[in-house]
Amino acid sequence: MSTTHPETVPFVDLVGQYHRYKAELDRAIAGVLENAAFIGGPALGRFEEAFSRYCGAKHTIGCGNGTDALFLILRALGIGAGDEVIVPANTFIATAEAVSLTGAKVVFADVDERYSLIDPAAVEAAITPRTRALIPVHLYGQLADLRRLTAIGERHNLVVIEDSAQAHGAEEDGRRAGSVGRASGFSFYPGKNLGAYGDGGAVVTSDSQLADKVRRIANHGRADKFGHELVGVNSRLDGLQAAILEVKLRHLDTWNTERRRHAALYTELLASVPGVKTPEVKSALAHVFHLYVIRVQDREGLKRHLAERNIQSGIHYPEPLHLLGAYAHLGYGRGAFPVAERACSEILSLPMSPELTAEQQHRVVEAIREFQTQRGGAR
Ligand SMILES: *Cc1c(COP(=O)(O)O)cnc(C)c1O
Repeated sequence: MSTTHPETVPFVDLVGQYHRYKAELDRAIAGVLENAAFIGGPALGRFEEAFSRYCGAKHTIGCGNGTDALFLILRALGIGAGDEVIVPANTFIATAEAVSLTGAKVVFADVDERYSLIDPAAVEAAITPRTRALIPVHLYGQLADLRRLTAIGERHNLVVIEDSAQAHGAEEDGRRAGSVGRASGFSFYPGKNLGAYGDGGAVVTSDSQLADKVRRIANHGRADKFGHELVGVNSRLDGLQAAILEVKLRHLDTWNTERRRHAALYTELLASVPGVKTPEVKSALAHVFHLYVIRVQDREGLKRHLAERNIQSGIHYPEPLHLLGAYAHLGYGRGAFPVAERACSEILSLPMSPELTAEQQHRVVEAIREFQTQRGGAR
């Protein structure tokens, strides 16, 4: 079979996306070069304003990457040594790293069975007198239960910080990712729904005081050119990335619509394949399908089977954070978060990008069907 399908189905098609918008992107890049507006500059200001409007918040502060965005929010809130911050057990490590970088202690909470999103009941159980904040992650592009988490935050006087790195544009009850928590961290890593051509990130908030503080910390603690009033860091979104993102932002809604359509087709086609659990969607706009993640019994076997047919896939993420070496010192151990642990052993992310074609999707699903029926993967 594999010889009849030599062409790779890429996990994400960034080259295809560049060619689709080449003229616009090239013009924007050349504009920055012609003005040498590499740090700061007009494109950055325009992008920050446009992204605030897009998210439905007052301020956007561009920064170096999504990890820094979360770190800057925590620092600006004065969170550090002696404090605790609750994060989900299954997410990209950056969510926890941002907490660790401040000197605060990471406290993990399990996720729910249906959506693999942080479980509000588990959050509540993890609260101690030292808890200062919680960071729900909109994992795979689907909004966490912000209504319940906000209520918990209010009840216990905790700050809710959204990790929106995978959820640009996800929306529920007319509010988008980035506009619900006190502040939100976004990543513009190239493969994200809104991706730069290098690293990039942003803090989004409607709290003007917090925004000022973040802006200062991100720019060497500056109030003005030589007025360094606190010890900051250098974490800025550069002019080239801002210009690229300004162009791409105009197409984000189109891309998210395309992603949702691809997800719906996968789900429809996979309905007749035995032993595959497809992702559940809370409401039509709440999911922007940064990733399309299925669950199967023999994940490793299926991944190999797809690779043999030149179909790329991913695992997000193979180990929950409490079982990684980096967080072994917290002493949780296997069994601490059973829902996250089980999910991590069964998940597989299928090719997903706006540029994915129906033909590619049919090929992916037929390869999965072949494995699940003939190799007994459905057990
Ligand atoms: C990508 C990502 C980040 C970090 O973003 P970087 O820009 O790579 O630092 C944080 N959290 C989640 C959930 C992510 O997927």
